[in-house]
Amino acid sequence: MTLKKIPFNEWNTVLGLQQDYDDLELLYSPVISDAPIHVPDCEKVLTLHHTPTSSYREAYEYIHDEFISMGEFTYELYLAMPYFVEIYQTWKQKQDFQWQLLFLSLIGDCLATDFPRNHFSKRLNETLPKEIIETHLRSIEIIREEAKEFVTTHLEKLKQLNLDDVEYFCQCLFGIFGDREAAFVLFMGDFNRCYIACPYCSDPDKDSDVEYNFDWYLGENPVCALGEEIVPAPSVIGQWDQKSYDNDYLWMSNLLYLLGSQDGATKMSLYYGTLICPNCGKNAGIVMDLAKDRMIWDGESSQLD
Ligand SMILES: [Zn+2]
Repeated sequence: MTLKKIPFNEWNTVLGLQQDYDDLELLYSPVISDAPIHVPDCEKVLTLHHTPTSSYREAYEYIHDEFISMGEFTYELYLAMPYFVEIYQTWKQKQDFQWQLLFLSLIGDCLATDFPRNHFSKRLNETLPKEIIETHLRSIEIIREEAKEFVTTHLEKLKQLNLDDVEYFCQCLFGIFGDREAAFVLFMGDFNRCYIACPYCSDPDKDSDVEYNFDWYLGENPVCALGEEIVPAPSVIGQWDQKSYDNDYLWMSNLLYLLGSQDGATKMSLYYGTLICPNCGKNAGIVMDLAKDRMIWDGESSQLD
């Protein structure tokens, strides 16, 4: 089934914006032309905010920054997803591991911003045609299947990424497969920290968030002992069938571990652990749920137009 795409020159009419989409058109060029794309291998690295020397990578960086500015959801994503899917599939046909990795990462990073509480435009929430939303949802289903196949096929290659790239790529996969609000929390805290407040003893009118930095619990000389304030969720390492992505904590912890990031797996056990409030001593709930409450503004109450 081909996905119905809105031509680039109609985007501004649909969205009511005045923008050009030249960079996305350039990224899409391998789908419609066999002309070779000149990008040296050293440019095809996952590293964020890489300084590009080729126009294709430059376009990739531009779109990445535009679509994920400060974690704000951009409605262009609804129109871009079917293009992203085709670009990914074209690089898959060309058997280009690095571009597949880069586009899956871009898609997952974008999707981490895509959840109702982050959809701030009342006008666009109400007026975007249903077919566009349906195509977006269908694109997500397709990319989920592609991402599963990519991980299974390239597991050994993925093990060779450096650990920063492993953690970043796994977060992007979390944006594709997982609870998007949780993915947003992971990205906004650089997969290392979150801000939470005890529901029993914090004053909701005061800025009483406490920052938890998971580095405190890691390494040879941790500042805090595991179990002190945050009781980690029970380990699930070794319990994943490497096929199912239904249980976020299960697959993500295991994939990080398989790809060599034990610290990443430990951080997951903290995100899904329980906070024992150091102030009142009560069981304050699951860290991830508390972090979502504090880190996500409610789009419904602060819509732009
Ligand atoms: Zn408390």
